[in-house]
Amino acid sequence: MEQTAQIATKTEITGDLWSTVLAQLDEVAERLQLDPGIHAMLRQPERELTVAVPVMMDDGHIEVFTGYRVQHSSARGPCKGGIRYHPEVNLNEARALAALMTWKCAVVNVPFGGAKGGVTCNPRQMSEAEICRLTRRYTAMIMPILGPRRDIPAPDVNTNPQVMAWMADTVSMLEGSSVIEVVTGKPVVLGGSLGRKEATGRGVAIVVRETLQRLGRRIEGTRVAVQGFGNVGSVAARLLQEMGCRVVAISDVSGGLYREQGLDVAAIAHYLETHPRSLLADYPTHGGARISNEELLTSDVDVLVPAALEHQIRTDNAAAIQARLIVEGANGPTTRRADDILNERGIIVVPDILANAGGVVVSYLEWVQDLQRFFWEEEEVNTRLEAIMQRSLREVWDFSQAHQVPLRIGAHMLAVRRVAEAIQTRGIFP
Ligand code: NAD
Repeated sequence: MEQTAQIATKTEITGDLWSTVLAQLDEVAERLQLDPGIHAMLRQPERELTVAVPVMMDDGHIEVFTGYRVQHSSARGPCKGGIRYHPEVNLNEARALAALMTWKCAVVNVPFGGAKGGVTCNPRQMSEAEICRLTRRYTAMIMPILGPRRDIPAPDVNTNPQVMAWMADTVSMLEGSSVIEVVTGKPVVLGGSLGRKEATGRGVAIVVRETLQRLGRRIEGTRVAVQGFGNVGSVAARLLQEMGCRVVAISDVSGGLYREQGLDVAAIAHYLETHPRSLLADYPTHGGARISNEELLTSDVDVLVPAALEHQIRTDNAAAIQARLIVEGANGPTTRRADDILNERGIIVVPDILANAGGVVVSYLEWVQDLQRFFWEEEEVNTRLEAIMQRSLREVWDFSQAHQVPLRIGAHMLAVRRVAEAIQTRGIFP
């Protein structure tokens, strides 16, 4: 039995993400009775660029890396999406993530299409100078399709504000003018937005609060477990505690902590920031208990926020989850088959394309500030983020109720319908 479950789990997570994205699109297209021509358009990215990126390594030899930039759809505006540096980056992954960006931007109704890019490399084995040269050469090679009105990259796995600063500088040098608005997620000194770093976690916390309200549940005392204590998880946990939740369980790559009376999230975050190893396993338990990540996922809580990695909720643990509400901070934390189990059990899942869209929302606000060369106080950024997340949740909720579908399907239907409407309204060129 256990072996069968393991085999089932292995096949459910090794499938190609692009096939999954296409299967989901096909299902949504059928539900929406989408025009077959528009369906065919959305099954194929608008533009794909593969580049061979030579880099002079520190020891003097030349290494050639492969880079990609895929623009899935520009129907609703310039394409938007991250740049990933990872050994497993490939064209199909970029296609899938680009399409998901199209849906994510549509679901929160910011005027962007979707894109994704990356370089197949292992940045952990490269020096900072090598990563800088790789970034500049890759940027120069994809520059023909970039631009503040064409395609605006942002950080993703293993890229950060510094990489965005190098990209903005490279484009500006080659253009001979300042084009900082060509990327978002930049350092604040270079036109980045206040509040951008915390935006995804803040968005997750807002979604938890608003969903609880819709379910008629009080936020005070709600027991929450958060998997992953990085950029997304730590901010979401801290804000949820400030909103009145009892954060009883958190975890990171080194394991988890559980305390029935609630954990002191701010103290833990401070500890991790000030200790070089930055691992939860080193933090004193203060009367709590050490738990595994598996135990965290199935712990006795009201709300579960997976905010670490993809494929954490699978057929082998979905039946044991006790939370009645799951808010997906991470991208793709739930496999398709696990999602079916959660739906059958009546567990409400707020899907990633809505729940973790706070980052792209503030990227949009950064782009707006850059274009107008007028920057807002953090409070204004947060107020606008709050309004957009509230509106987006309300729209997905109402749409899903009206069509009697789970929130994940409702969010995808709403997104695809918005993109299709944009295509129809533009008409097919020429
Ligand atoms: P991060 O690297 O800052 O943090 C990841 C956290 O997960 C760390 O605490 C790490 O220790 C933990 N972790 C790693 N492996 C784990 C494991 N096996 N079990 C439990 N915890 C583990 O990353 P992040 O920026 O917080 O991103 C987390 C997720 O959110 C990713 O899926 C990412 O794609 C998604 N996301 C991030 C943003 C953003 O703006 N940062 C936006 C949208 C979606």
